[in-house]
This record gives sequence, structure tokens and C-alpha cells, in this order.
Amino acid sequence: MKIEVPSGPPSHPTFAPLAERVLAGAPPSRDEARAVLATSTADLGGLLQAAFAVRSRRWGSRVKICVLQNARSGLCPEDCNYCSQSSISTAKIDTYRIQPREELLAAARRAAAEGARRYCMVTSGRGPSDRDIDHLCGTTREIKDEFPDMEICVSLGLMDEAKARRLADAGVGWVNHNLNTSERFHPEICTTHTYADRVSTILAAKKAGLNTCCGGIIGMGERDEDIIDLGFALRELEVDSLPLNFLHPIDGTPFGDRPTTQRDRALRALCLMRFLNPDADIRAAGGRERTLGEEQTLALYPANSIFVNGYLTTPGQANAEARAMVENLGFTLEGPMAVSA
Ligand code: SF4
Repeated sequence: MKIEVPSGPPSHPTFAPLAERVLAGAPPSRDEARAVLATSTADLGGLLQAAFAVRSRRWGSRVKICVLQNARSGLCPEDCNYCSQSSISTAKIDTYRIQPREELLAAARRAAAEGARRYCMVTSGRGPSDRDIDHLCGTTREIKDEFPDMEICVSLGLMDEAKARRLADAGVGWVNHNLNTSERFHPEICTTHTYADRVSTILAAKKAGLNTCCGGIIGMGERDEDIIDLGFALRELEVDSLPLNFLHPIDGTPFGDRPTTQRDRALRALCLMRFLNPDADIRAAGGRERTLGEEQTLALYPANSIFVNGYLTTPGQANAEARAMVENLGFTLEGPMAVSA
């Protein structure tokens, strides 16, 4: 069934008052969160309209375009069931060790040439070694020398405050590290590190003065209660950016045979994240194209940011196509182009 989003201020009898309360500073109750995740297709237009009203307060109709740079691929000792780069994955992917400084600098130059404001270096692995941190700090300083205004973001796995501080001192401004799911469901997706490990990385980044980018994945077999727990946990952590991924089942991974997340479930989850995190930079992230197909523009009602040019090991929508899609819907592209995790 096609979803029509009404224009104008929220008018749905349940979700309009919810949007008003959220804008006044009150989070949804757990029951209201359950109701959001149980929204029928017929009511989804009203839900998206209400989520858009909340999104508009901070972000208007602006959309930020983000791009990932995979600085080290595969060879990871961890066992995340969704990930093609894990020790238990047999997926055919490119594997390489951390890219040399010249390659990372060249990628930063390409990003700058496309008008990038933010550049993110992503590495596979449990977490960065001291040598990785030395390497990334040196690279960051070189990038900042050349492009003083470029925002530098890293996504490096588990990290303590000392490492986060070294990155901050070198000029890194943002750290991406996702909680992925609820504390209850986390052992079902990974056994080599814990949910608490992930939380402590975010807390360490915050203590070091870094901005945080932290979200999750929908469609791994979690229950609605897990999505609600994730949303409340991200609210409590006051994350600055919130990427929400929709599982892209990859052959060769334990979750390779999971069904594609349903469109409505993905949209409801995005709306819930918006109600729980009204001012966060919410990103419709990996799996957006596969889950939402032709209707991916609907994600822009709750989310204010999307990724283009693919994800770490899976393809995505091309930059030019995404930009045309955003503008055709009447949204405004944020410029210059942001490059982030
Ligand atoms: S998600 Fe990160 S830590 Fe987990 S297996 Fe993939 S690269 Fe390793």
C-alpha cells in the first residue's frame, strides 16, 4: 500500500499531540513508543507527518549527504553476526590492512574536491592499537594542515578515554561507534565484546570532548522492545548523531538468510528514534535502498541525513542520484557535502 504523507502541521489524532509533547521536551512513554512501532500502514502517513514536525525544529527541510571511507577492511577478530568483515564470515570482500597516510590523504582530497565538510576514516577490528592511533593522529594533522576547516571523524571500534583524548588533541572531532541493539539482544549478535564495552567507548569519547555518532541496526531478529530500549539508551547517552541501519543480509555471514526488513517497520523505527532523540542528526543508513526501494524518500521525514556511494562492503545509491532524489522531493541539500560515518 502506497503511503501518502499529509502536508502542513501534524493532524493525526494520536501522533500530533505526541509530536507537540516531544517538542515541549517530554519523551514518549514506553506505551507510546510501542504504539509508534505498531502503527498500521493506513496511519503511517500521519506518523511521518508528526515526525517531520519534530525533525523540522532543528533541521528544517535540510538533508545532509554522507560518505564513508573504509580505511581498513576485513581481518577482524570479532564475531558480529551481521558483519562481512568478522572472523566468522566467509563473505567475499576486499581485505587490506590500514591504508597508508598518502591514501587516506588522497581520499580526503577527493572528499574536499566534492565539497566535503567532514571526512571519516573507518577501520575494521576490535579497536585501534597505539600504532593505529599514532598513524591516524599523524594523518589527521596532515589533513587539517591542508584543509583546516574539514571536520575529521573516525570509526575505529572499542576505545578508552586516553586514546580518544589523543585523537581529540590531533584534531579529530567525531567518533562513530554504534550500540547496534538493546543490551538484552546484544549477546545474540556478538559474543566477543559486550554491550557495556560499546557504551563505555561512547562515554570515553564524550569525556574526551569528542562528538558522538551512535546508532543501531534494525532487522537482526530483535523484538520491538529491543528497538525501544535502543532508542531510550541513545537518548540517555545524548548522542549527537544517530545512524539507523537496516540489516543487509550478506551471504557468508550468520545473518545472511535473515529476511529484508519491511518498509513499514523501518519507517516506524526511524520515527521512534526521532521522537526519542528530537535534536539528533538522524541518518537513514545502511540497507536504506534495499529496505525502502522506490519509497526511500519517506525516510527523510524523520531522518535529516543519508549515506551515498555505498557502505563499507555493500553498494548504495550514487551521490548524483541521491541528490536529485532529495531535491525532487522539495528538501534542501546541506552544503558543502558532508563526509562522515
Ligand atoms: S562490526 Fe566491527 S567489530 Fe564487528 S566484526 Fe565487523 S569490523 Fe569487526
